[in-house]
Amino acid sequence: MELSEGGVLENMALRTFKGGVHPRYNKDATFKKPIKNIPSPGQVVIPLHQHTGAPCEPLVKAGDEVKVGQKIGDSKARLTAPVHASVSGKVKAVVNHLQSSGMDGLCVVIESDGLDTPDESIRPRDNADRLGKEELISIIREAGIVGLGGAAFPTYFKLTPPAGKTFDTLVLNGAECEPYLSADHRLMVERPMDVVRGIKLLMKASNVGQAVIGIEENKPDAISALRQAVDGDAKIEIVPLEVKYPQGAEKQLIWAILRREVPSGGLPVDVGVVVNNVGTSVAVKEAVIDSMPLVKRVVTVTGTCVREPQNLRVPIGTSVGDMIEACGGTRIPPKKVILGGPMMGVAQHSTDVPITKGTSGILLLSENEAVLEEPLPCIRCGKCVEVCPMHLMPLSIAGYAEAGRFDDSERFGALDCIECGCCSFICPSHRRLVQGIRLAKAEIRAGQSARRA
Ligand code: SF4
Ligand code: SF4
Repeated sequence: MELSEGGVLENMALRTFKGGVHPRYNKDATFKKPIKNIPSPGQVVIPLHQHTGAPCEPLVKAGDEVKVGQKIGDSKARLTAPVHASVSGKVKAVVNHLQSSGMDGLCVVIESDGLDTPDESIRPRDNADRLGKEELISIIREAGIVGLGGAAFPTYFKLTPPAGKTFDTLVLNGAECEPYLSADHRLMVERPMDVVRGIKLLMKASNVGQAVIGIEENKPDAISALRQAVDGDAKIEIVPLEVKYPQGAEKQLIWAILRREVPSGGLPVDVGVVVNNVGTSVAVKEAVIDSMPLVKRVVTVTGTCVREPQNLRVPIGTSVGDMIEACGGTRIPPKKVILGGPMMGVAQHSTDVPITKGTSGILLLSENEAVLEEPLPCIRCGKCVEVCPMHLMPLSIAGYAEAGRFDDSERFGALDCIECGCCSFICPSHRRLVQGIRLAKAEIRAGQSARRA
């Protein structure tokens, strides 16, 4: 194995991690479809809490006129992300509304005037190249940028290492290993220059000398487009990865590319790495160069029930129902609607929920596809252990959770579980392993908070 000067593995065709599964990828319906901008919907519902950290306080009230990119919510908390109007028009209400979590949360409802008038503050910057690290981080914070891969962790916070720690490498996640989704793939193919421009800004903001973009090898057009955009810059390397789920999970990606292991309970910064998604990189370019906050994102709307599956670029706050309509509606009635992919997405009981900064896909599954088999007793085959990318024993963690022995679940590493769902996927007895582990994690964390209090 050869290492380049920066510690990046050379000649690494098909780098990967240990464990994982090979679900059917089902990306054929959308991966060649260009991203389509759809007209702004008549109304958007923008949640004030769509990120990790403190919810925002509303900065507008019913009756206020707003413009695209205007800040409509913020918080003084250390960890948060402001939200902005994604259409121009009039604030109809600031009310509790159903969200993708299944719970109600405070949202700003804006009736669009159909004009998409940008806020006066949106003026392209001509001094972007002269901005320093702190200025970049401040712009990224004010633009409300969060990880667009799904976790929605505020990017400005991620870019600042805690005291005593430093980054040396930026890892860009272009794996998009979740079945069905193709939003990142299309961004890399259609906007490679913006991805690379964003990477350079992220490198400056995190003070690193090298960046590596990890892309699954089933996206050769994305690999080639980015190679061209990188244009021989030795500081940015593109690494083809084996097609395997969850190749895009942070810890697995870092191991596959750099052979660095994030310690149990630790973060990428513990091994000198900061990870960002390729969609986040484009959002950073738009915030810094175009001075446009994060008000739109690309979402893959797909599944056999959708009449015309698409990759749509839509205002944040557009309802799931409006997006399905923009794809020609349904061909057959869906049995299950999932926000995200089939492995880690969240099933919805209504299409009257808004998409948020973290929504990468809308998946409509038919009755046959959504069948949930009855769980049978564990046959101790060990398959769940073999595939767990965190090297855990899912059967034990979930078994203890089922028995209410959450201390034992914790002893077996429940908190290290990344909830990828590989164990449930592979289990021949259809045991609800990840669901049991999620319960254990919630109980363990509740116990920790109670003890702290
Ligand atoms: S135990 Fe957690 S990390 Fe391991 S396979 Fe199951 S869901 Fe994934
Ligand atoms: S995969 Fe299922 S049946 Fe096999 S050991 Fe794990 S829990 Fe038991």
